[in-house]
Amino acid sequence: MNNKMSSKPKVLSCIQPTSNIHIGNYFGAVENWVKLQDSNQYDCIYGVVDLHAITMSFNPEQLRHQTFGMVIDLLSCGLDPKKSIVFIQSLIPEHTELCWILSCLCPYGELTRMTQFKEKSEQLHAEKLSATVDQKSFKFISCGLFTYPVLQAADILLYRPNYIPVGKDQTQHIELSRNIAQRFNFNFGELFPEPKALLTRTPKIMSLSAPEKKMSKSLGEKHFVGLFEDEKSIRIKIKSAVTDIGPLDDNEMSPGILNLFSILKASGEENTFHSLMKDYAVKSLKYSMLKDAVADSLVRLTSELRKRKEEILADKKNVIKSIYEMSDNAREIASKTLSEVREMVGLPERK
Ligand code: AMP
Repeated sequence: MNNKMSSKPKVLSCIQPTSNIHIGNYFGAVENWVKLQDSNQYDCIYGVVDLHAITMSFNPEQLRHQTFGMVIDLLSCGLDPKKSIVFIQSLIPEHTELCWILSCLCPYGELTRMTQFKEKSEQLHAEKLSATVDQKSFKFISCGLFTYPVLQAADILLYRPNYIPVGKDQTQHIELSRNIAQRFNFNFGELFPEPKALLTRTPKIMSLSAPEKKMSKSLGEKHFVGLFEDEKSIRIKIKSAVTDIGPLDDNEMSPGILNLFSILKASGEENTFHSLMKDYAVKSLKYSMLKDAVADSLVRLTSELRKRKEEILADKKNVIKSIYEMSDNAREIASKTLSEVREMVGLPERK
């Protein structure tokens, strides 16, 4: 897609660069990004948000590598530079400039209520307690982590989208972006549409080892299945997925089993899903059968994605060129919004 946006509704969503995009990201968000793109009903813009990735500890060399790697992973999942824009956030300085302006429109108290900030701060605190003396000075809660949702609001509002396809963990942040958009429109005039979150039918995939928590790379290897992971490792992880966590109410399904069923359904294995659900209902389900079915479906998905990734990597030079072109196209849209914002809030026009 070129930089000329049509009159179609706009879709925008972003992902942090990590070396391990996982099935939670895919079933909760990215699969839907591809569907929305292919429906031809929307102008779709997707971003790899490297500035968000530096809010927690990071390695500079890995960061650069992972940022381009994430765009390549998204293209392997089916995003297509002819149909969508896939940009790298830090190539577009308008994101940080708008972030500053919006942070002056965001009450401090609202940010203190963000659950993701609370969870990540707790995680950092726990890491600090178990860190060696040398490591301790690098384990702190950064201001960047606190203002993360405002940068996210800027990522969104710069492109003035109508819909934000995300996993359930992001609904509170989208709500904050809506509040900031409303506050801007009220104070300075109508500029931003209020973006709506679009959830998939599996908006929250849980950890394999601790199914009461969201699947996340930061919990550790045993907790997630990577989208490009090999067969052997997938089978081992699914086999050791937690199924029972102690006594439950009579008709309650354990969170681990529920999660495996959700993954099976999300993988499109409807028939197997219904047949195993029937076994579960009459208490004849063998967990090993459910696990085999889940592992089979994930092995099919990941081997297809790995194949596509190899094809894309064979033409890496052109892919990198296209990433810069797409980011330039995104910047054209972003700079138009920022000029309007500057004018509306009373900052001088740039010559
Ligand atoms: P992040 O990795 O935090 O940048 O998230 C990228 C996208 O994946 C966001 O839309 C998240 O809501 C979604 N996501 C992340 N983890 C999960 C999960 N365990 N289940 C469903 N969606 C998820």
